[in-house]
Amino acid sequence: MYRINREKLLAVIREVDQAIYNHSQWYQNIIRSIVCRLPFDQRDMAEDAHHHCTFGQWYYHCSEKEMQENKTFQSIRGEHKQVHANAKLLLETSSRGEAISYIDYDNFANAVERLRLNLQTLKYELEETLYNRDPLTGVRNRISMLSDLRKQMDLIDRHVDTTVIAILDVDRFKQVNDTHGHPVGDLVLANIAAYILQHLRPYDNVYRYGGEEFLIMMPHTDVETAAAVIERIREGVAQMQTHMHNGETISVTISAGVTKLRDHHNIETAIEEADKALYEAKLGGRNKSVVSA
Ligand code: GH3
Ligand code: MG
Ligand code: MG
Repeated sequence: MYRINREKLLAVIREVDQAIYNHSQWYQNIIRSIVCRLPFDQRDMAEDAHHHCTFGQWYYHCSEKEMQENKTFQSIRGEHKQVHANAKLLLETSSRGEAISYIDYDNFANAVERLRLNLQTLKYELEETLYNRDPLTGVRNRISMLSDLRKQMDLIDRHVDTTVIAILDVDRFKQVNDTHGHPVGDLVLANIAAYILQHLRPYDNVYRYGGEEFLIMMPHTDVETAAAVIERIREGVAQMQTHMHNGETISVTISAGVTKLRDHHNIETAIEEADKALYEAKLGGRNKSVVSA
């Protein structure tokens, strides 16, 4: 499940902001102590100083799954530790009354810069998730869909790429809601989205196009390959079981319309083509995919 809890995400973004602020305060204090020859905070001289600064306390206690799995968050661990190791070296040199070498200073300054960049990247990634992803399914939302498709269209107009889009629509989904209730419908949608995400290639993108409709964009792909990918997803979804709270399971099918993005077409025309193919799949009995001629 890729559901996004917006409140939690907002809270995490605020925490990252606070962490960025805390670390910049720490940095300024270190520089101030060295330049003005003030007494150092002894905690900065400890081997495990990175665990004791305000930032470290936040970092090592942050247990959110989204953060633990985030690559940028993971790489911050090493960068932050390095910053403290470099700071310790400067403080030790300074406390012996010796001049700090420019190499040691540059190492410290560069490590601080790398940490800052990683923290800004982390914040950017979290905000990107907040604004561009659909909270129920975790797939990209319509806001990013059109701009992504237009960018892709530019490549096609310059003959750089071949791209296929597919629109997937859950069959008789209204019945699912009517029979089992809206929360079960939500669960089914989230499961279908998770299945699609797991079975696409890393460079394919999936968007929540409408209520129970998904749009898949497959760059670097010819129609035959794309059609086969969509067929596999259709078959997989049909075999999937969603477990309901009452212990019973439910399965649904999807229909799909597939079309190639053609140069000098606009995105709206391409989506219309895919929609027409989808309509044919519905007319043809559902649980089908149709490739636009
Ligand atoms: P068809 O096979 O022709 O696509 O039939 P359908 O019932 O899927 O199509 P219809 O357009 O009549 O109904 C779509 C339903 O999807 C109606 C709407 O309540 C439901 N739906 C849309 N978004 C959501 C959602 O986020 N959660 C739930 N549970 N239902 C949703
Ligand atoms: Mg629909
Ligand atoms: Mg439907």
